[in-house]
Amino acid sequence: MKINRRMFVGTTAAAAATSASAPMVMGAAHAKPRVVVIGGGAGGATAARYIAKDSNGAIDVTLIEPTRVYYTCFFSNIYLGGFRDLASIGHSYGTLASEYGINVVHDWAVGVDRDAKTVTLAGGSSVSYDRLVISPGIDFIDGAVPGWDITSQNKMPHAYKAGSQTELLKAQIMAMPAGGTYAMVAPPNPFRCPPGPYERISMVAHLLKDINPTAKILIADPKPKFSKQALFQEGWSNHYDGMIEWVGPDFGGDNVEVRPDAMELLIDGEVTKVDVCNVIPAMKSGRICETAGVTDGNWAPVHAATMATKADENIHVLGDSSAQGDMPKSGFSANSQAKVCAMAIRGALTDSPVFPAKFSNTCWSLIDTDDGIKVGANYEATDEKIAKVDGFISKTGEDAALRKATYEESVGWYAGISADMFG
Ligand SMILES: Cc1cc2nc3c(=O)[nH]c(=O)nc-3n(C[C@H](O)[C@H](O)[C@H](O)COP(=O)(O)OP(=O)(O)OC[C@H]3O[C@@H](n4cnc5c(N)ncnc54)[C@H](O)[C@@H]3O)c2cc1C
Repeated sequence: MKINRRMFVGTTAAAAATSASAPMVMGAAHAKPRVVVIGGGAGGATAARYIAKDSNGAIDVTLIEPTRVYYTCFFSNIYLGGFRDLASIGHSYGTLASEYGINVVHDWAVGVDRDAKTVTLAGGSSVSYDRLVISPGIDFIDGAVPGWDITSQNKMPHAYKAGSQTELLKAQIMAMPAGGTYAMVAPPNPFRCPPGPYERISMVAHLLKDINPTAKILIADPKPKFSKQALFQEGWSNHYDGMIEWVGPDFGGDNVEVRPDAMELLIDGEVTKVDVCNVIPAMKSGRICETAGVTDGNWAPVHAATMATKADENIHVLGDSSAQGDMPKSGFSANSQAKVCAMAIRGALTDSPVFPAKFSNTCWSLIDTDDGIKVGANYEATDEKIAKVDGFISKTGEDAALRKATYEESVGWYAGISADMFG
């Protein structure tokens, strides 16, 4: 190839920049290594931002995300309770593009060719990668709740992907007849946000206590116990006494069927007419993980130190879709894993330093006004998994000032994680 002046100047400038500040590019066949991130949620947006920000432009980052506004599931229950409006939990991708130089592509990833290292988009184009990060959240297991499928989600919403489903659920609650019944079909383990269904029950009760105080809440649950159970049940009897009935597996909570057209819930064959039915089916990794061939059963096993999949060292899976060990499937966890993954990818592609992986998580829940509780832990990477090191949980009987402070802490966390994801 003949080198013209422009190319020569360009290469010299790039070389000078590399020696001055930018990290070295390792064995890349292209001018810059390329990272493609599928999914712009808690894991994907954070990973894209940290790789772009901390590599000082030495890595090209493309983020593929179909929605133009991402509504966080975190704080979507707080919206249901009437403590936030929907706009306050919506975030766009403009800053990632304008300030971090991320190539934001609003499309679905529909194929991954692991040999060619390309991702195909629904729009027809394809994008090449040196490393691929997949953080697509969850999908539901077909047939998990007899009588329910995705065509029933308007009659019986899941509201477990935030946005229109959350708005729909709230509208249905607001339209309940006086003394009506709100039912929830809770999911089996493992699922996104272990305290999520129970925080939702608290927020629905808060709303109904105000607008429909004789309404009833019924939960059919396949699990014998659930996250922060003693704290939630104490709060329910303090704030919403007699309103909430929890039916565990001993009483048929694991043997449920729904009839969306008739608005009926069957628990152990016994029919209950309901006014709202919030069906949260069993979950699995986002479908694109299966398409990429990195799942083992329902989830994608990963190496804890890098979040690289066990099936392909060039593909990393973050957040809810990953099978990583002890961390709960939460936005906090996905964000924490994304930073470890970003560091590992920068290390592999630009030789930047890599430190031992440390992770943390806290899940806050609001039971009633200023009555916040939390559970959390720190984790480390072992050869086998992300392993819990130590943890903490709120206690029953805490005073009102501590509970208020806990809620305020969660408001601060929400602002912090939103900025950490979207810039
Ligand atoms: C009601 C509720 C309350 C919650 N509360 C909390 C809380 O208080 N604290 C907390 O930490 N966590 C909470 N969570 C959990 C948290 O929302 C998830 O664990 C977190 O969002 C997981 O991050 P993720 O990156 O794995 O997936 P997501 O954040 O869901 O992001 C996935 C993204 O991938 C995109 N995507 C999917 N498939 C494709 C594809 N093929 N191509 C391109 N893009 C794709 C989706 O559009 C989506 O934007 C809550 C969840 C729920 C449902």
